Amino acid sequence: MERFVLLDRDGVINRRIVGGYVTAWEEFQFLPGALEGLALLARRGVSALIISNQACVGKGLLAPEMLQQITRLFVKQIEDRGGRIGGVYYCPHRPEEGCGCRKPKPGLLFHAQMAHGFRFSETYLIGDSPSDMATARAVGCPGLLIAEDGVAREPMPMAPPEWVFPDLAEAARFIIAHPLPSEPSEESAGQKVPLA
Ligand SMILES: [Mg+2]
Ligand SMILES: [Zn+2]
Repeated sequence: MERFVLLDRDGVINRRIVGGYVTAWEEFQFLPGALEGLALLARRGVSALIISNQACVGKGLLAPEMLQQITRLFVKQIEDRGGRIGGVYYCPHRPEEGCGCRKPKPGLLFHAQMAHGFRFSETYLIGDSPSDMATARAVGCPGLLIAEDGVAREPMPMAPPEWVFPDLAEAARFIIAHPLPSEPSEESAGQKVPLA
């Protein structure tokens, strides 16, 4: 059975722009270990599903077509290096729009689940922020935190991560060494959650 990992984008795959957004390809910088980690996972049959808030689109700072272009370019670089991206899911909304897909709301995870048919309990979620860890907690994914110096950049009292790694390569090695147990397939019928 195909396995998946849910990944945040900024601060996990590419360098987060503090107080801003990636609005041009030149600003998309892969983090150390990111390409290696994605290739390690792919070699074990694990596809990455990217789940990312991009309010810059709703704020008019980035055209949807440009976001798609940036996405095509980074996905190609990942695949050229042996990684496998099963899907990229963005929330383009501003926080005040109150949508159901901006993390920590779980809407995008349900979209991904409907498309790929995995179980949250069998799927790690890797992020770098409290909202990523809260999203993981909300749906029942084990949450892995990426923190370059090994320390979370913000306190996460509501949903502390279960594990912390300095980069995606280290997180990938952990995932490969600790596959999540599969549930019996009879239970899968009750596992899918409808979109809100
Ligand atoms: Mg992030
Ligand atoms: Zn949204």
